[in-house]
Amino acid sequence: MMEKQLDSRQEIVANLDTIYANIERAAAASGRRREDIRLMAVTKTVEPERVNFAIDYGVDLLGENRAQELVAKYDDYNREKAEIHFIGTLQTNKVRQIIDKVTLIQSVNSLRLAEEINRLAGSRLGRPMDILIEVNIGEEESKSGIAYTQAEELVRQAAAMPWLHVRGLMCIPPICQDEAELEGYFEKMHRLFVDMAAKNIDNVTMDFLSMGMSGDYEAAIRHGANIVRIGSSIFGKRIYKEK
Ligand SMILES: *Cc1c(COP(=O)(O)O)cnc(C)c1O
Repeated sequence: MMEKQLDSRQEIVANLDTIYANIERAAAASGRRREDIRLMAVTKTVEPERVNFAIDYGVDLLGENRAQELVAKYDDYNREKAEIHFIGTLQTNKVRQIIDKVTLIQSVNSLRLAEEINRLAGSRLGRPMDILIEVNIGEEESKSGIAYTQAEELVRQAAAMPWLHVRGLMCIPPICQDEAELEGYFEKMHRLFVDMAAKNIDNVTMDFLSMGMSGDYEAAIRHGANIVRIGSSIFGKRIYKEK
């Protein structure tokens, strides 16, 4: 048991070293530094003990994508050194479970969800909740996220709510066969991000562009991402079946 834990810690540390080096290189390619990019460790299906190894090694941002799993693991995380963002599809009736456990919700994809977060941030937190608007950049039937053409409207609607603070945009691009197609989506997303920032909408600060996962984070950074969400490249292949 002890040896197994040591192996797991060493593996996570080695993976993080590789990722930090890759982030630094991709950041340099876009005129930025490693510190300009936030690395999020995506923790779905990963035991809290192993997540805490990553926190010990300096990871200060966790991403949870299921309300129930977040509630189950919350108390076991070393939370003094890491904050948690919610990144998964969020049903309005689950907002109540997570609103006091996260510092930002990245996956806001509808007016109804924004309204519910606004309502509970007001009544339960007494302070505004930071959010990102999730954009369905590939216009895929199966993906969550607001349609690209409706993103600005949702940003404006959320910005008008007293208990929300719009901090940026998030996306999960389609699975692409070729690199150029993928980079096209990242580029489109970056343009939207820059356009939105230029509009100077009240109560909107376009601080975060969250895109890039294990397979594509370097490309995402080269195209302007400043939060990358990485799971399997840190913790290894997920053991349990995803929903
Ligand atoms: C699982 C997940 C990730 C990380 O995926 P990996 O390929 O394991 O890095 C990133 N973002 C979201 C929204 C996820 O659900």
